[in-house]
Amino acid sequence: MAKEKIYFIVGSQDLYGEECLKQVAADTREMVDFLNSKIGEVVDIELLPTVETSEGCIKDMRIVENDDDCVGVITWMHTFSPAKMWIKGLQILSKPLLHLHTQANEKLPYDSIDMDFMNLNQAAHGDREYGFIVSRLDIPHQVVAGYYKHDDVVAKIRRFAEVAKAIAFSKKLKVAAFGNNMRQVAVTDGDRVETQIQYGWETNYYAIGDLVKIINEVTDAEVDAKMEEYTSKYTMKTSNIEAVREQAKYEVGFDKFLEKNEIGAFTDTFQDLYGLKQLPGIAAQNLMGRGIGFGPEGDYKIAAFSAVLMKMAENREGSTGFIEDYTYDLTQGEELELASHMLEVPVSFAATKPEIDVLPLGIGGKEDPARLIFDGVTGDAIQVTLVDMGDHFRIICADIEMVKQPKPMPKLPVARIMYRHKPNFAIGTAAWCYAGGAHHSVVSTALTKEDIANFARFTGTELIIIDENTTEADLLKFSGRKY
Ligand code: MN
Repeated sequence: MAKEKIYFIVGSQDLYGEECLKQVAADTREMVDFLNSKIGEVVDIELLPTVETSEGCIKDMRIVENDDDCVGVITWMHTFSPAKMWIKGLQILSKPLLHLHTQANEKLPYDSIDMDFMNLNQAAHGDREYGFIVSRLDIPHQVVAGYYKHDDVVAKIRRFAEVAKAIAFSKKLKVAAFGNNMRQVAVTDGDRVETQIQYGWETNYYAIGDLVKIINEVTDAEVDAKMEEYTSKYTMKTSNIEAVREQAKYEVGFDKFLEKNEIGAFTDTFQDLYGLKQLPGIAAQNLMGRGIGFGPEGDYKIAAFSAVLMKMAENREGSTGFIEDYTYDLTQGEELELASHMLEVPVSFAATKPEIDVLPLGIGGKEDPARLIFDGVTGDAIQVTLVDMGDHFRIICADIEMVKQPKPMPKLPVARIMYRHKPNFAIGTAAWCYAGGAHHSVVSTALTKEDIANFARFTGTELIIIDENTTEADLLKFSGRKY
């Protein structure tokens, strides 16, 4: 059973009599049991007392709000439920809300339907009354419509639960910034106060020396254990074992620092690595593979955002992680992008068994760092980023197709992924540029634009989608700051 829970609240009223309310409770219990059997490994769904009055609604919503394990709430109007009785309760609610527009019955019983049946099963009536008040209160919410046992409806509820869990995670996320933003870089910077207000991220500065102190106290035995993990998972291509042990020491040190300070994401910058012999390579790659958010060049937003999206994807197949747009193959009609980073490409993208190698790094002025080298996974994916536009944040989400690299790149000393833009290179990348999309992003084969749209909706973030339906005409709309 999952630790996180979602409460389920059903709406009715006291006009229909005891029998009707008993049936409402029984039907809803059956619905909750069914949903738990389908998505119980993602989230535990618990039924609250039926809302029949304004006071009852306030009581239920207080339970939702006060329970730290609760990440969201599902509501459904089995009968008519006059929506003024929902106003004060909904005003308390700050957690993600799913309005499930469904019925206890799939088919209409044409032969036996009478007024009792109509009064008992009137989501078409009650859910519209309720939908009006949620909309009028301007509460961010998701509506899922359809019979609750249908696979597509269950899948949407499951996705809602995953997004709600990610938002709860986001609200608690602490980010360590080792050093500041890389000098002169714009898109990695941003308003840390505002990201805390909107997404919950507590981003705080730490001296790299605080980390170096812990790294220097890492024992040989701890490094041995980490090296055993590396050699069991990866192919050792280098004979410079000492350089790899240095990275193993970094990872153990990072782990201790992150655990001690309850931190789920971090940034570093190669302009401030005092006390470290190498830029963290394998250390960062392996940490990202375990769901720790990372942002290079002081990019606290992508560090936090990648951690949140990895959390969202934790129960799904596929790869999710940080990446940087790097270089293109512009062969006409067959354009591809090669995305990578100096070192820090998450190991979760590996399609081939990663190789550990120690090679020079063009910048940074440090010793040659050990890194994992591999080719990337393939398949449908999204590329998503978050930028600070000064008076609001903007999420840009593009559908992409991850592809196998057409030829080997024997001299490229870093891990890499390759992808094709949608609807094509000219429109897809131009739209990204018009939208102000960063060169740091999160790529995921596990998440979809629907998940990102839900995250944007629940966090009140502007969203720009670039996909198969984006056209030249859409680009013409990107004419100014507000669109
Ligand atoms: Mn970068």
